[in-house]
Amino acid sequence: MESAHYLDHNATSPVRPEARRAVADAMEHVGNASSVHRYGRVARRTIEDAREIIAGFVDAAPGDVIFTSGGTEANNLAVRGADRTRVLVSAVEHVSVLDAAPEAERIPVDGDGVVDLVALDRLLAKDSRPALVCVMLANNETGVIQPVAEVATIARKHGARIHCDAVQAAGRIAVDIRSLGVDSLGLSAHKIGGPMGVGALVLACGVPLQGRQKGGGQESGRRAGTENLPGIAGFAAAAAATELSDQARLAGLRDRVEAETQRIGSGVKIYGRGAPRLANTTCLSMPGVSAETQVMALDLAGVAVSAGAACSSGKVKASHVLMAMGIDKAEAETAIRVSLGWNSKPADVDRFLEVWTQLWVRTGSGSSGGNELKYG
Ligand code: PLP
Repeated sequence: MESAHYLDHNATSPVRPEARRAVADAMEHVGNASSVHRYGRVARRTIEDAREIIAGFVDAAPGDVIFTSGGTEANNLAVRGADRTRVLVSAVEHVSVLDAAPEAERIPVDGDGVVDLVALDRLLAKDSRPALVCVMLANNETGVIQPVAEVATIARKHGARIHCDAVQAAGRIAVDIRSLGVDSLGLSAHKIGGPMGVGALVLACGVPLQGRQKGGGQESGRRAGTENLPGIAGFAAAAAATELSDQARLAGLRDRVEAETQRIGSGVKIYGRGAPRLANTTCLSMPGVSAETQVMALDLAGVAVSAGAACSSGKVKASHVLMAMGIDKAEAETAIRVSLGWNSKPADVDRFLEVWTQLWVRTGSGSSGGNELKYG
């Protein structure tokens, strides 16, 4: 069953018709791209065409695109394949980076969730071992955009290598591996309207990588395993269909959500608002009402949003991103994320605002700390 008003594009974006068609067409192929016969050659052509499109999407060379099973694998491969004993990660990274390097040192962020460049410089200066620095381009919960080119300049000064998780930024702002100055970028198809279970790690020219998955030597020995041909074809079709110009329309819808919730609800906070942000994302609190209650009430009314980070278990816990921004746990537990995308319409925002306002009134939020509704 699909929500009538889907406002959770940062969790996954509905598959674009172009991607759906490309997946279906690719499933007609019988060949394995490693086979030398004509069927294999057709499959190989499809993959190499897709590689060129993904390379063009981030201004890289096709030979530097390694297809993976998604953003999680791309981030893991970047962290583990860099083979550095010292790893520094921003405190607001996605778990696929944090858990790939559990011993990593954390780079703090400010109250808007922007990485502290002075702290990064200081951390790198105090230990001369060659390091890997991981800073994402845009945050999945708040949409805050990091100054990655500045991070790269500082990291280079100290001889460090830089990985950038661009999973949420791709398709929403221009992502250019050369002007960012990073060594690698992580991408995921399902955040841009492609299928789930496919993504890419893109390397800057000449950057070495130790493949972790061994086997048939696919992806130039950097990621073994028969390629996900339909997924890769769908990924490329979604990337080709992406129009950055649509972000201005989404910014208008997002701004309406923020202006109206703040007009109606006193004490409503918008997180990361003082920093550059993606146009499609807002993370906002309803004082005194848990995110879980908000998500359930909206869901019952046909509106899909997320509570901060959606965990794989489906359980809601206070967001490490908001806590790193200095927000206390109780407040962080009242924050939801509304994220828009290619098929979002004004009617989706209208319905969200209608149900949000009803909940605000019913819970008496902001009056005496809220009169929380209970579900289940
Ligand atoms: N990085 C970020 C910032 C994300 O938001 C996500 C998914 O939520 C991932 C990485 C993981 O991507 P995937 O779902 O393709 O494994």
